[in-house]
Order: sequence, then C-alpha cells, then structure tokens
Amino acid sequence: MDYSEGSLLQARIDLHTHSTASDGRLSPAQLVDKATKCGVKLLALTDHDTIGGLNEARKAASAHGIQLVSGVELSAGWHRHSIHIIGLDFDAEGQGLTSGLRQLRGLRTQRAIRISEKLEGLGVTGAVSWTSEKAASAQITRAHFACLLVKRKYCRTVQQAFRQYLAPGKLVYADCDWPSMGEVLNWIKESNGVAVLAHPLRYGMEDIRLTQLLHDFKAAGGDAVEIYSGVSSPKGAALCTAYAQRFNLKGSIGSDYHGDTPGRSRLGVAGLFPPAIQPVWESFR
Ligand code: AMP
Ligand code: MN
Ligand code: MN
Ligand code: MN
Repeated sequence: MDYSEGSLLQARIDLHTHSTASDGRLSPAQLVDKATKCGVKLLALTDHDTIGGLNEARKAASAHGIQLVSGVELSAGWHRHSIHIIGLDFDAEGQGLTSGLRQLRGLRTQRAIRISEKLEGLGVTGAVSWTSEKAASAQITRAHFACLLVKRKYCRTVQQAFRQYLAPGKLVYADCDWPSMGEVLNWIKESNGVAVLAHPLRYGMEDIRLTQLLHDFKAAGGDAVEIYSGVSSPKGAALCTAYAQRFNLKGSIGSDYHGDTPGRSRLGVAGLFPPAIQPVWESFR
C-alpha cells in the first residue's frame, strides 16, 4: 500500500495499538504516556490475542486523564484466510472472551513449537526457549521469531525475516487453525463488546473475496471496519469507506502502532474520518 504522508494527521482517537504484551516495543504504561504526549484523547490497546496489558494501561490512562477503552486484536479464520478482528469496549472478565483467549494462547504456543521445529531444520537452535523468554508473559508472535532471525544474523531486518522466512508459503511459515470468524465474533458479543474488522486491505484479497468477507462479517454480527489502519493511503480509505457504506458498517481508526520503526505507522496518525460513516466510538458505553 502506498504511503501518502501528507494526507495523514495527528488524530485524537487511536483504536488499534500494540504493547509488550504482544509484539509492540513499548510497555502499556509507556504507550499511554506517548499517546498522551501525541494528543490522543481516546485510546485502545489492542494486543494480539491477549488483554494482559490492559490493567497497566488503564492505571496509566487514569493518571494521565485520557480515556482508555478495553481492546484486543483477535486472530480468526475465514475460508483458510487468517484475519484479524478487533474487540473494543468489552467486559474484560466476560466468560466467552476469557475462554477464547485461553484457546488462542494454546494455539499460539503450539504454532511456536512448529515454527521452532522448522527453524531447527535450518540450523537455528533453541528458538522455543529464546522466544518464550523474550515474550515472557506476553503472547509469542511471528515478530518474536523475526527478531531471533535478525539476532542470529540470518537476516538484516525484521521485514526481511518476514519476506524470506515467516510470510505465508515461506520456509518457516506454520499454518494455524484459528477459531472461525463466527466464534470470535460471538466471544466479543458475549462480553458486550464491539467487533471491528481490522485492516481489510491487508489480506491480499481480490474485491470479490473481500466483498464476501464483509458480507459474512456483517451477517455474523460484526459492527465496523477500519477506515484507516496504520499506513493507509487516501485511496485505501476511500475503498474501506465504500465497503462500510455498502454493508452498513460503522467505521474505526487505528494506527496499528508497534513502536517507532522506520516504515511502520506512527501513534495516533490517521486521515480525516469520512462524514458519511458512523464512528464506532459513538457506540461505546
Ligand atoms: P502473528 O499474529 O504471530 O502471525 O504475527 C503477525 C504480526 O507480525 C503482525 O501483527 C505484524 O505486527 C507482524 N508482521 C507481519 N508481517 C510483517 C512484516 N512484513 N514486517 C514486519 N512485521 C510484520
Ligand atoms: Mn503485530
Ligand atoms: Mn493485524
Ligand atoms: Mn495490529
């Protein structure tokens, strides 16, 4: 996706960010601190398949006087595609979500073992223990394996590690049988949350496929799509706006911030929100 820096602005709302509870660089408290300094007033921490950072973020947000809504970015399966669904403003103790997160943690651990076995075959030893230690209590993501490949000098950058080893179809990619989109949407609904389809244009789907995904997402109870998700172009935002209108979905904005890495999105940065779309944050409790 092309990156049109000039069209992006510092926004007051950011509903898609990561911390060290998954593959972000900053701790939840550091993230909230940075968001405050950037002028963000409404923030969601949406780590991959975990809400482990929420309490720390909540404390920091009340100290800084900014509004934090509960958030998570859940991995889900749809017709052999792996997609991401953002849950927002849910009850963090909700039963459906709690057991769902337990299931996702198990799947991530099993996948980490499969990735490590493939790495072992290439001579990269001890990947399970290295990534487990690096992740500590956080979720192990492919980004942790990318760091290991850089550290062992198999690649120069994390980007390159994804391109050569960790992307679908590459040497150490391991498939994961994520819970279905319908199941994931149910967990969010059972916990009184709002469900947002993350970065619709990043799944590499043709228009027909993406239209089908959005249709199924809406039919299964999905609420919104991300209009801006990190490094978005005006053209991408216009496409997402058209999908939202066609399926009567609300819109969300999020930077998908992971840390200040060149080429990746900056915290709280998005384009102008389309006036024709209902903002998802208006339905927060
Ligand atoms: P996982 O959910 O464990 O499969 O890991 C996916 C995460 O890896 C994404 O959320 C991104 O943060 C990161 N990622 C995926 N592709 C790339 C890439 N090409 N370069 C850098 N990070 C990436
Ligand atoms: Mn990530
Ligand atoms: Mn994602
Ligand atoms: Mn994300």
